[in-house]
Amino acid sequence: MLIISGGMMNKETLERILETWDTMFPDAKCELTHSNPLELLIAVMLSAQTTDAAVNKVTPALFEAYHSAKDYACADINDLQRYIKRIGLYRNKAKNIQAMCQVLINDYQGVVPSVMEELIDLPGVGRKTANVVLADAFNIPGIAVDTHVTRIAKRLKFCYLKDNVGTIEKKLRKKIPQDRWIKSHHQMIFFGRYHCKAINPHCYECPLIDICREKNKKLKRN
Ligand code: SF4
Repeated sequence: MLIISGGMMNKETLERILETWDTMFPDAKCELTHSNPLELLIAVMLSAQTTDAAVNKVTPALFEAYHSAKDYACADINDLQRYIKRIGLYRNKAKNIQAMCQVLINDYQGVVPSVMEELIDLPGVGRKTANVVLADAFNIPGIAVDTHVTRIAKRLKFCYLKDNVGTIEKKLRKKIPQDRWIKSHHQMIFFGRYHCKAINPHCYECPLIDICREKNKKLKRN
């Protein structure tokens, strides 16, 4: 029995969860369209409180218009806003992107850093965004805790219900083998996005229902 802070999970249960995710979502990956670290960083910043699909609708024209940190930093803010106005909080996001790119120019020769401490120092960039960039742009293992990962970690008892995102990240990193962090992170997002949804999760066909904290709550079935 592996004892972790936040509860107990035996090794077999952990392996079963990981195997289930492998079976259900063997090709889980980042769904934000991007072709370099700067594009990914900007796409993740744009994805706050909206869907990846919504971001992917605005980024092709945005990435066509702006290529470098200098392009964003020197852009007319109204022009920049026009490209992203179809997604929520676009004024703030445009402001953060410009401020972030200005720091990239001032401190990093316009290049996105690949170090957590440097990324989270950038305006508008938190640990979740930094973890996504490190994992998907630089292949540096990390687990970004977003709304899906939080929900799944709680339902499958990786943590306590009261745990905050910082604690959840620590517990997931402690329990899941490091060489699986990037893969498991994407699989948790897919599991949350397409199966264990916030509302109307597919409990009726869930192979993990016996492990789940929600199993006795008569969750509404589709
Ligand atoms: Fe999610 Fe339902 Fe499965 Fe629990 S039983 S993990 S709530 S789909």
